[in-house]
Amino acid sequence: MTSSMPICRLDNPDHPLVEGAPLFCHKCQAPLCLRKQVMNLALGLTEEMLCLACLGQQHGQKPTELLEGLKDYIGRRDCFANQWRRYSSIEFCPDTVGCVATACFPSPD
Ligand SMILES: [Zn+2]
Ligand SMILES: [Zn+2]
Repeated sequence: MTSSMPICRLDNPDHPLVEGAPLFCHKCQAPLCLRKQVMNLALGLTEEMLCLACLGQQHGQKPTELLEGLKDYIGRRDCFANQWRRYSSIEFCPDTVGCVATACFPSPD
């Protein structure tokens, strides 16, 4: 009830999700992956999290635009960036389509 601070825990390497965060989009029930959870945290959403498509809708942005913008912000915040980097490859993502995985995990070239 009192916690409004983003949760920042790195103690569960086998199941890389943000501790205590929702697993599904509050609006459309799409599965949330770690990176979507971190994006929600970066936007200040801790209890009712949304998938990228729903977030985009809410912010009047394309999911890719939202992702690109948030990626920069997250990269500058250690607390978020440390979580973000736990997804070392696309394999971790439960929803490669809804995630815009190509933007999330750009190919090295
Ligand atoms: Zn959704
Ligand atoms: Zn994902």
